[in-house]
Amino acid sequence: MRLDGKVAIVTGGGSGFGEGIARRFAGEGAAVIVNDISRDGGERVAGGIVQDGGRALFVQSDVSKSEGVGVLVEAAIRAFGQIDCMVNNAGVTHRNQPLTEVSEAEFDRVFAVNVKAIYHAAIHCVPQFRRLGGGNFINIASTAGLRPRPGLTWYNSTKGAVITMTKSMAVELAADQIRVNCLCPVAGETPLLPSFMGRDDAETRERFLATIPLGRFSTPADIANAALWLASDEAEFITGIAMEVDGGRSV
Ligand code: ADP
Repeated sequence: MRLDGKVAIVTGGGSGFGEGIARRFAGEGAAVIVNDISRDGGERVAGGIVQDGGRALFVQSDVSKSEGVGVLVEAAIRAFGQIDCMVNNAGVTHRNQPLTEVSEAEFDRVFAVNVKAIYHAAIHCVPQFRRLGGGNFINIASTAGLRPRPGLTWYNSTKGAVITMTKSMAVELAADQIRVNCLCPVAGETPLLPSFMGRDDAETRERFLATIPLGRFSTPADIANAALWLASDEAEFITGIAMEVDGGRSV
């Protein structure tokens, strides 16, 4: 039980990486606030955790809005008495297309969910972490923020921002014993995959896979295992890192 007695919030916990993280954290003893903007997935994940004997609560909100993050922190304190770990995982992308064809509304949306939500998380969580004597943030970035492919320029840019926010927050908050790290996953086999690859056919898939030395896409379990370590006391001396969980793609 590597997270025994800890309380975590996982945004976008209703599917994909967030679902994997929420379930894994709960399996290691954490009480989890499972957040998502959509009700179905979040309820299913929180319900599954409780059915398995774990502690979880689904809170539906939009983390691109300040109050959408505020309700999560309030729920964690009210239901579980504290907060130890904030996982900023909720994310969206835009269609794979030339950068001049992405609308201003789409640009604003990807920045609001992928980047501004972390600002809101800082505003709401830092005072609580200070009060409780420490805590940690885990931000889900992407290999796209380090080595961008064409067609997702504004999405790639949000992930670059997430990596810099992680490092900046880490140096500023270290004095308060608040750790801030991010994960850079390579694409997983989720509904977003065709958008990352640009096209969805066998040849494109083969070409994409050829850039991943370990020869497969990422899974929610890969990302959850890395997040678990960062959230645990085993990583108590780790802050400000961008950990690539990418089957060696970055090499
Ligand atoms: P990934 O591959 O990153 O796991 P998914 O699309 O499976 O991609 O998961 C992202 C999750 O984030 C989805 O469940 C989605 O509903 C959620 N999400 C998207 N936007 C928001 C938002 N504004 N607030 C909360 N959750 C969101």
